[in-house]
Amino acid sequence: MLEVSNLMVFYENALALNDFSMKVTKGSIVAIIGSNSAGKTTLMNTLSGLIIDTKIKEQRKGGERITLYGTISLDGEDITELYPSERVKKGMVLCRERHPIFPESDLVENLRIAAYLRARSELKEAIEYVFHLFPTLMRLKTRKAGFLSGGEQQMLTIGMALMVKPRLLLLDEPLLGLSPLMQTTLVEAIKRIRTETGLTIVITEQFARPILPMIDHGYIIENGMLTLDGSGLELMENPEVRGAYFGV
Ligand code: ATP
Repeated sequence: MLEVSNLMVFYENALALNDFSMKVTKGSIVAIIGSNSAGKTTLMNTLSGLIIDTKIKEQRKGGERITLYGTISLDGEDITELYPSERVKKGMVLCRERHPIFPESDLVENLRIAAYLRARSELKEAIEYVFHLFPTLMRLKTRKAGFLSGGEQQMLTIGMALMVKPRLLLLDEPLLGLSPLMQTTLVEAIKRIRTETGLTIVITEQFARPILPMIDHGYIIENGMLTLDGSGLELMENPEVRGAYFGV
């Protein structure tokens, strides 16, 4: 479904992604695991097109700080140069850590706003699915998004991404800053999204332990470079991965 080939991203002279390639098959969960500054957010911003947006804005101001090489294709179509909004229309939706867009609006209003591309007739069912996935959110539906806890905001952010009706969901560090209990809740929800909707999911994370058991394939990146890839099981059994990302 998604194929990334020889991606290189420079911020001025600094190389943030170095010749990174990966393949994501339809209906799978794929993870990119890396520690701080490994290049995870750069990869997600490149996949979602946000980096193209930034690059073009900078060019208009007369600067050229970001350089991009390589290709990204979705279902065989080259989307490397597409704007984020065009990628969303093709079903690629990025969910960044805790970004309720409207903190002054209540939880349900946020879900509705996120569904701007969908027919009104689909809204009720879509909101019910988010509540089915995260029953906690149903109890908080009239609360202002800005007053939700970190974990609740993260659930809402994932709910908002689902309201867009993605085919490919990009989750950038969904477990960051959450308690182990909340991490488990989110991992269970991500598994259910895949089994219940058949969505394809790409996750970046520094916490390998909760993520690896549910993934089909994982890529380990260090300093923007791919160092290892394999099935979730292979990575879980790898002593280097355990040493670096399991705190063993
Ligand atoms: P973290 O988990 O700490 O968020 P990350 O894996 O998401 O890290 P990135 O944010 O992609 O890593 O950063 C990769 C490298 O690129 C880092 O060295 C970072 O300092 C650099 N970088 C990221 N964004 C920019 C930018 N806008 N301008 C210059 N350098 C940047």
